[in-house]
Amino acid sequence: MENECIFCKIDQGEIPSYTIYEDDYVRAFLDITQGTKGHTLIIPKKHVKNVYETDPETINHVFSVVPKIARALRDAFNPIGLNIVNNNDEPLQSVFHFHVHLIPRYEDDGMVLKTENNYGKISTETFNSLVEKIQENL
Ligand code: 5GP
Ligand code: ZN
Repeated sequence: MENECIFCKIDQGEIPSYTIYEDDYVRAFLDITQGTKGHTLIIPKKHVKNVYETDPETINHVFSVVPKIARALRDAFNPIGLNIVNNNDEPLQSVFHFHVHLIPRYEDDGMVLKTENNYGKISTETFNSLVEKIQENL
């Protein structure tokens, strides 16, 4: 429990939430903004800031319930698909307690999650240098 962390407060019941699932390690509750119908957050009960600070056990606890919640959202709302999103660091991240967004998707729901398609524009040398750079940091 970290002071002034709203997700720790939600987990402790100090701030109310629409919780859909809870066990000893995680809580899943509806995102207050409901970006799409059923937009859900899954948090570990242990306070960790973001993915960079997670340990394997904590990440395992969170991701081990992702399929269960995803299937429930699919069966409840019949979306055309579902995105799993995790934001790390400002300006992407606004709540600094690790969380995974489950976002059911619907026709014309206004949500945009798109990257450039650079297929064919990147040379073998560039791909190899990317691999090298990342592996140097593993
Ligand atoms: P981030 O940008 O950090 O990935 O997303 C944080 C999410 O937490 C946002 O989607 C926001 O709507 C949600 N959120 C912030 N405060 C509260 C709250 O008090 N209750 C709930 N249920 N969600 C919250
Ligand atoms: Zn916290």
